[in-house]
Amino acid sequence: MRKIQNYINGTLCPPESGSYLPNIQPFTGEVMSEIPDSDENDVEKAVQAARRAFPAWSLTPAEKRADILEKIAAGIEARLDFLAELEMLDSGKPLWLTSEVDIPRGAANFRFFSRAVSQFASESHFMETGAINYTLRKPIGVVGCISPWNLPLYLFTWKIAPALAAGNCVVAKPSELTPETAAVLAEICIEAGLPPGVLNIVHGTGARAGNAIVEHTEIKAISFTGGTKTGEMIARSAAPRFKKLSLELGGKNPAIIWKDVNLDEVVPQIRRLAFTNQGQICLCGSRILVHADIYEAFKEKFIQAVNEIQVGDPRDASNFMGALISEAHLEKIVFYTNLAMEEGGILLTGGKRKVLTGEAAGGYYFEPTVFEGLNQTSRTNTEEIFGPVVTLQKFASEEEAVQLSNATGYGLAATLWTNDLKLAHRLAEQVEVGIFWVNCWLLRDLRTPFGGVKNSGVGREGGWEALRFFTEPKNVCIKYR
Ligand code: NDP
Repeated sequence: MRKIQNYINGTLCPPESGSYLPNIQPFTGEVMSEIPDSDENDVEKAVQAARRAFPAWSLTPAEKRADILEKIAAGIEARLDFLAELEMLDSGKPLWLTSEVDIPRGAANFRFFSRAVSQFASESHFMETGAINYTLRKPIGVVGCISPWNLPLYLFTWKIAPALAAGNCVVAKPSELTPETAAVLAEICIEAGLPPGVLNIVHGTGARAGNAIVEHTEIKAISFTGGTKTGEMIARSAAPRFKKLSLELGGKNPAIIWKDVNLDEVVPQIRRLAFTNQGQICLCGSRILVHADIYEAFKEKFIQAVNEIQVGDPRDASNFMGALISEAHLEKIVFYTNLAMEEGGILLTGGKRKVLTGEAAGGYYFEPTVFEGLNQTSRTNTEEIFGPVVTLQKFASEEEAVQLSNATGYGLAATLWTNDLKLAHRLAEQVEVGIFWVNCWLLRDLRTPFGGVKNSGVGREGGWEALRFFTEPKNVCIKYR
């Protein structure tokens, strides 16, 4: 069986313990490779390599650091087809999605931050009494980046690129469920001439390798994307060690559909935001809130559109949805559909595992599923399912749309579909989220702040926010009169 290796101190190496874990391919349910079951000894090795690399890397001119990041971006692009296929095999998501979104975005993250760092400036504050303050922004040192399985290379690089651009050295862990493209990234970094120890990739479980990163006293900041419960555990462990933390967590995002929309235009958009990547994007809309005046008309067209979604082998371009990430996740989706029924939900479509034939017979497929009739406080409407299960709810006024939108503990993203500009501004102000899209979804400008409020996280990524997170500001005050 092919063995993936850690990337520590510029070389590919086995875990200290010699133990490996199976890496399962979701579209067939078969083992595709083995990954290091790294522990605190591997993390220690990685941290020491990063510490040794930090003085030289942090003093390397930003322009030179940017050149290397640019080469990494080019290395990803040069392997676009290979990486897109690998990501598809490793995650179960359709090839069209990995080719159009995941891998191009991995390259874009490196390119964006290679350019951004050349424009990064700090502030100065003049005092009339004859003094000037300036803010010195220095890299933090060794930082930890931990990412989830739903957008593997996309989110892994979204953290690593700004950390490196700002002059930090990194110990990073991809999800144990999707290690493949991170392993190729290591090879690309070697080829691009990234100095040894600047980036270290440690594979393994969250409980062992991830926890060792969070607990390591030499790691001064953690950038984490994943579930809210894991974020809570990380915060509990990092807080008494006084680590800087950025937590991008779960969501239960509303899609608000006002009565003035053209349903033929909006229905395909809602289908896309509900079921892209099998509903496994933190930004997917899972609570579809529809104005009462158009509720029945929307429902009819939406269910018809959902019934046209093809679920199946992710290699086949005609399939909009591929496989869920794992058997455990499939069981979670089954649990929530049963729960929705117990809570009084009316199943409008889907609700079942889809069993394929041939090579994909052992894969984890689930039908796109829509419920209505569930109370806003039900578990189905308040807990993150993170799969192809959405609910429809009706509202009769602007106030009710806001109230329903804000009726969960989460606050990541929302979408509003309307032609009423004033309404859009009012709702953008009142809905409790970090990201509010009007008449679009997943339209991303990498310069904008990205993150959630409430249980969806702490801190922001993207643009200057990321470069600020990965640097420590120091005020220098000079009196000259
Ligand atoms: P998890 O929280 O289970 O895992 C995320 C990462 O953390 C993985 O690499 C995991 O390792 C690791 N991890 C798990 N336990 C620990 C620990 N105790 N200490 C350190 N690291 C740990 O999330 P999922 O991978 O299941 O991802 C899905 C979740 O991510 C959803 O809730 C989704 O909403 C959220 N998400 C949020 C985004 C945002 O930007 N707000 C974007 C994308 C996803 P391993 O998997 O190997 O155990």
